[in-house]
Amino acid sequence: MIIERIPCGVFQANCYVVGSENSGKGIVIDPAGDVDKIMKIVYEHELTIEYIILTHGHGDHIGGLLELKDKTKAPILIHSLDKDMLMNKEINLSNQMPMEPVEINPDKTVEDGETLALDDFEINIIHTPGHTPGSISIKIDKTIFTGDTLFKGSIGRTDLIGGSYDDIIDSINKKLVKYDNDVTIFSGHGPSSTIGIEKSTNPFIKKS
Ligand SMILES: [Zn+2]
Ligand SMILES: [Zn+2]
Repeated sequence: MIIERIPCGVFQANCYVVGSENSGKGIVIDPAGDVDKIMKIVYEHELTIEYIILTHGHGDHIGGLLELKDKTKAPILIHSLDKDMLMNKEINLSNQMPMEPVEINPDKTVEDGETLALDDFEINIIHTPGHTPGSISIKIDKTIFTGDTLFKGSIGRTDLIGGSYDDIIDSINKKLVKYDNDVTIFSGHGPSSTIGIEKSTNPFIKKS
């Protein structure tokens, strides 16, 4: 599996290009900006982008959304509870960021437990609310893209519109920590980690 991390956009959020060498099909997670950099990776791996999936609706993760959709013609997917955020620059905060405000109607909404098949890999949607009501984590094989829910050694903010500290703690401890220690975590900002490292070092994970 191809996994490329591309920090981009106003707050250098991590965009990920994930694809299959066998089928040539791929997805883009959180096109935060710098679409030329994202497309360069897509072309290098000769991928056809089938979906653009958002871990949540915040402005710092969607700055390149319109341009990337225009270039790839791929549908935009977001959890139903973050749909209104994506469509409103005041809720997605893009009107307060040093960027063009973004308001987009997604092509499809996704729900907890939903699976998208992409020939030889499966994309599993895990609803992990707390940072925003519709935050999701995206599990593909032994990898989870956690957006702004779980970071290496930390967790996402819960003081923004719709945030909930209790929900993010529950999401992490009930829906993410259960995976094997060797599952890799790719988060929305900063470096990667593993479930095992987070279980032993992250202060927000409850000791069982
Ligand atoms: Zn966020
Ligand atoms: Zn962010």
